[in-house]
Amino acid sequence: MIPFVKISISDAEKKAVMKVLESGMIAQGPQVKEFETMFADYCGVKHAIALTSGTSALHTALYALGIKQNDEVITTPFTFVASANCIAMQNAKPVFADICPDTFNIDPKSVEKKITSKTKAIIPVDLFGHIYDIAAINDIANTHDLKILEDAAQSISAEYNDKRAGGFGHCAAFSFYATKNMITGEGGMLTTDNEEFAELARRFRHHGQSEQTRYQYYDLGYNYRMTDIQAAIGIEQLKQIDDITQKRIANAEKLNAELQHISGLEIPTIRDGYKHVFHQYTIKTDAARRDIIMQKIKENGVGCGIYYPKPLHLHPFYTSLGYKEGDFPVAEEMSKRVIALPIHQSLSDNDLEQIIEGVKKAIKK
Ligand SMILES: *Cc1c(COP(=O)(O)O)cnc(C)c1O
Repeated sequence: MIPFVKISISDAEKKAVMKVLESGMIAQGPQVKEFETMFADYCGVKHAIALTSGTSALHTALYALGIKQNDEVITTPFTFVASANCIAMQNAKPVFADICPDTFNIDPKSVEKKITSKTKAIIPVDLFGHIYDIAAINDIANTHDLKILEDAAQSISAEYNDKRAGGFGHCAAFSFYATKNMITGEGGMLTTDNEEFAELARRFRHHGQSEQTRYQYYDLGYNYRMTDIQAAIGIEQLKQIDDITQKRIANAEKLNAELQHISGLEIPTIRDGYKHVFHQYTIKTDAARRDIIMQKIKENGVGCGIYYPKPLHLHPFYTSLGYKEGDFPVAEEMSKRVIALPIHQSLSDNDLEQIIEGVKKAIKK
């Protein structure tokens, strides 16, 4: 079976971790500082703040942006649950908008309909590695004076008009969870150009203390600090991310070339001006046959998955907020049509051929 995901750790990460373990400093220290500097530089932003996960990066960003009880924050129901849960973590109200059927990203027209006097922010997600609709969403945010938190958990090194993910909103949140394009096991990063947001984020990850004046608690905070062990892995991974991205894009191009002509299947869309980094390579099939097709793909020796099998608004925590079936028809339809194929950097040309043949055979009636 060709594995759907494969973790790649090189000797450089192993050596870097051993150096940290032998250094006597294993919590947040010089490696974290270096990782933050490199990361900010890579994304083309002024500040990067390392955190324990993508989830804590999202939570911290909402705090830094001033989101609090009774505020409303708009996001997509077709994503990993953390994109919406972070809103509830600040006691604010998660408000969903529907998605575009081509990129699976939040639909600006749907966002506009959800804006009320309580709306304070939008969390567009760069789903599967394709950055959100920058022009339309940023325009809405400007018009209504809303903050943008870019959920860039899946989009490290993605670009729009030659600018990298992480710099398009007021803050962005990255994840280095073990299956993301760049990994530290668990880990996350907040990026921003705003000095005040950066300072608030540094406090929030450290129980509300300023890093200059310890044991002065300015506000509620958490322990969201990254360790130097994770940062050492992150530094080495960041050095490899351009190669990793290139490999994923090359794999996607090979799959596209063979799969684009097959009827009963749609390959991923890339809008003009965007660089898609293929955290997932997601095809669309007929809803009625999707589960059968997926079963057959697996029988043909190809690991695959469904992202996401059920939109967030239909899970208990969100139905308890009043959401129901039919609220977001595009997200609901896509959850029944998608199949994600292996796309990771460890695939060989043979693997890619087997994936193509496995899918072709599975699609045939
Ligand atoms: C992975 C992911 C997160 C959460 O990141 P963790 O590091 O797992 O907490 C948030 N949003 C999206 C879109 C993700 O894919």
